[in-house]
Amino acid sequence: IHSTSRIYNIASIPGDGIGVDITEAAVQVLTTLSNTLGGFEFEFKTFDWSSKKYLERGWYMEDDGLEQLKKYDAIYFGAVGWPDVPDHISLWSLILPIRKALNQYVNVRPTRILEGTKSPLAAVQASPSDLNWVIVRENSEGEYSGQGGTSHEHSEHAIATEVSIFTQVGIERIMRFAFETAKSRPRKKLTMVTKSNAQRHGMVLWDKIFYKVAKEYPDIEIDKMLVDAMTVRMVYNPKSLDTIVATNLHADILSDLAAALSGSIGIAPSSNLDPTRKNPSMFEPIHGSAPDIAGKGIANPVGAFWSAAEMVRWLGQEKAADGLMKAIENVTAAGVKTRDLGGDKNTVEVTLAVCAEIEKLF
Ligand code: ATP
Ligand code: MG
Repeated sequence: IHSTSRIYNIASIPGDGIGVDITEAAVQVLTTLSNTLGGFEFEFKTFDWSSKKYLERGWYMEDDGLEQLKKYDAIYFGAVGWPDVPDHISLWSLILPIRKALNQYVNVRPTRILEGTKSPLAAVQASPSDLNWVIVRENSEGEYSGQGGTSHEHSEHAIATEVSIFTQVGIERIMRFAFETAKSRPRKKLTMVTKSNAQRHGMVLWDKIFYKVAKEYPDIEIDKMLVDAMTVRMVYNPKSLDTIVATNLHADILSDLAAALSGSIGIAPSSNLDPTRKNPSMFEPIHGSAPDIAGKGIANPVGAFWSAAEMVRWLGQEKAADGLMKAIENVTAAGVKTRDLGGDKNTVEVTLAVCAEIEKLF
């Protein structure tokens, strides 16, 4: 049979806990999207790299796992982490090596209030559009460099160092990406976050490079915040923010706060991007494996769907991405929501509702 359909090869890594449920849901929605729209198809290859498998066999991914991933057009990731495995082992076995090996030096985390959902913030009750942010997270160095060590480990006087690494190249490229992001949005506004009063080397270099790159973008309104004051501003004056750039650690924390302020950690998406496009980028909801609700079928799949929409957009299918976002919001607006959003539906019900919306839209 002759077909002119563009085929996207997607590596799917469901991982642990609710990562499995929401990845299954995302695959179903993506398949419905391509079947309904036509012109492109997804071919999924599932990798059983998880903490459960690690406990059985002693490893997460094959020795050539990172090489295997390079063959795909994109990677879809669920969540990794399980109570029986120390978190630093699961993280450093899977997600962090992938981000580093595939040059995914940007992590983009949009936040806004979806139709039919509610922020816990009084400041945005009347106008939900006042909370509309993109957090650009440095994803390759900084506090998550993995460098350091412990001495006198087995005495009562252990000393550990945790070394943050900040490079001119690493900072400049994330700043450029952040300025470009700010430029692509209506408000043309970028806030940079550091802790350069207490941390006097790497954070000061961040400040310096920020002002240097800013000169190339005279049309972007800029400001600088210390991370502690930033958490307060996000709560009391969300409207004053638009695009935000921060280090690996700071942006990790701020984006959990952002997700909670937008109604639930279950709706927030993230894109791990290699902006050079030499390697596949990876898309994942920001939430973790949530062992407390794993296996119950009640995980909110919206963060997974939104992440899928970001993947579709990165692959160049703008119309499909916009349609998927519209379908998600039609469903939340109709009150078809999981418990974390105050609804009473389960994962499958929300998934079927989104699929039905897609079929209606196209
Ligand atoms: P990680 O270390 O991987 O970030 P975590 O321990 O920070 O994980 P999460 O798994 O992100 O925790 O979630 C924290 C809590 O939020 C969960 O225990 C769960 O109750 C709730 N939660 C997270 N994701 C969802 C979701 N998709 N749907 C519903 N509730 C969720
Ligand atoms: Mg977390």
